[in-house]
Amino acid sequence: MSRVAIVEDGRHLTHNSFGHPERPDRVEAIRTHLASVPSLAELPRLSLVPVDDESLLRVHSRAHLERVAALCARGGGSFDQDTYATATSDVCARLSAGGAVAAVDAVLDGDHDAAFAVIRPPGHHATASRAMGFCLYNNVAVAIEQARAEHGLRRVAIVDIDVHHGNGTEATYWNDPGVLYTSLHQFPFYPGTGALADRGGPEAAGLTVNIPLPAGTSASAWLAEFNTVTLPAVEAFEPELVVVSCGFDAHRDDPLAELRLETETYAEVAERLVALRGLSSSPGTVWVLEGGYDLEALAASTHAVLDVLMRA
Ligand SMILES: [Zn+2]
Repeated sequence: MSRVAIVEDGRHLTHNSFGHPERPDRVEAIRTHLASVPSLAELPRLSLVPVDDESLLRVHSRAHLERVAALCARGGGSFDQDTYATATSDVCARLSAGGAVAAVDAVLDGDHDAAFAVIRPPGHHATASRAMGFCLYNNVAVAIEQARAEHGLRRVAIVDIDVHHGNGTEATYWNDPGVLYTSLHQFPFYPGTGALADRGGPEAAGLTVNIPLPAGTSASAWLAEFNTVTLPAVEAFEPELVVVSCGFDAHRDDPLAELRLETETYAEVAERLVALRGLSSSPGTVWVLEGGYDLEALAASTHAVLDVLMRA
């Protein structure tokens, strides 16, 4: 039995814009479900603190931090047509990134084999200088940069299974030989990036692995790509840590996108990634919630992943 921890926290509720799909109910639906299933309710919860400027500045520009702070100080508003902030969104987004940090720390400290951060706002569209795509700070990148600074981590693999391409994460690591970025995503689709030919900068050629998939792609076709392209790329990289940008919006029930993954597909992904622990580098896995806008699919898919992680 693996040691699995969960990050969950109620302090995201005031990041809310009426009628917006990226809403507090998303995380609350997962939290309610986790509390209702005894095996999941028993899992240890990790405490989290908001990340400070020093952590954010490893990924984001000071101008970006100042823009977020200024918009919140004015009582909130919009960064672009689909990315909002309230008066307290800066704190909520720093807590969200702090959740990813707590999950990474728990695995790197050796206390847990896997950790799942149930957090929002999501992060993978946020670039160094810009909030976009419902994302204010790039949670996964902030956590990875903290781990590299504090744990001396040399090779990290990011497996982005959100239905959207993680343009912010890709840009962050485009020319970084220490981080593999892999993404399966609907294409062409928001945000427009993630072409097959985009494979990384000169210092990191081949360390960006994009798998663009047309609308309507089935679970079996998606898994075939995951098994034959994503997994071999991760294995070849021999990562010390695997971080999953775990959006559930590729689920067939998701209202924002058009891929057709099943709840069981996420269990299969977890099975495959956990099996990587048998390799020489023995990486732990960290799961960080990104998108996912159908409440039942969110809860069921999180449950499916955790069941696999606990059994491993
Ligand atoms: Zn998404």
